[in-house]
Amino acid sequence: MTETAPTQAGARRLFFALWPDATTRDALNRTGLWLFRHWGGRRMRADTLHLTLSFLGDVPAAQLDVLLLDIQAIAIKRFELSFDRPGYWLHNHIGWLGLSQPSAPLEALVQALRDQLGERAIPFDNRPYTPHVTLLRKSHGGKTVACLPVRWSVDEFVLVASDPQSDGAHYEVLERWPLPG
Ligand code: ATP
Ligand code: MG
Repeated sequence: MTETAPTQAGARRLFFALWPDATTRDALNRTGLWLFRHWGGRRMRADTLHLTLSFLGDVPAAQLDVLLLDIQAIAIKRFELSFDRPGYWLHNHIGWLGLSQPSAPLEALVQALRDQLGERAIPFDNRPYTPHVTLLRKSHGGKTVACLPVRWSVDEFVLVASDPQSDGAHYEVLERWPLPG
């Protein structure tokens, strides 16, 4: 097992995400198998499948406390996403599933999180947001593939710690914030 030392004592590598329920996870995993048959590579383990909302990187322990205690519920009603667009990135050999149509509530959720992080002076990757669920690593890609859409009912967002290990990152959900019904 290899472990990457955090840059600061007690720091953890963190990101906000949507975490699928069992039904959505299974559907994403089936699409991962379908894409693997076309594009090869290494499939993500089913229990690791997620949609990153905001990536923070190494966060010192004191700021983790701020996140856990201080991040407020977000007044965006539960919403549905349809993951219907497979894609492949040549630069990092990742095969993924994303959205063919932008989602206003998803963009609002990401912006609300960014606003809260900014107000608390917690750094995050502020490049433009490209929603995607990583399904394949080290893939060679290939021809365009048609996929059945995966519906995802979003009723919460979560804060996740990522622990880099030799068999890929291990994730731990640290906290959950429900969205209003
Ligand atoms: P590994 O890096 O060990 O191959 P991983 O990419 O799944 O595994 P992390 O690098 O900890 O694990 O990333 C956690 C999540 O955040 C993943 O969904 C990843 O795609 C995303 N992510 C990582 N770095 C960034 C970044 N700079 N900006 C946006 N999202 C990122
Ligand atoms: Mg990574």
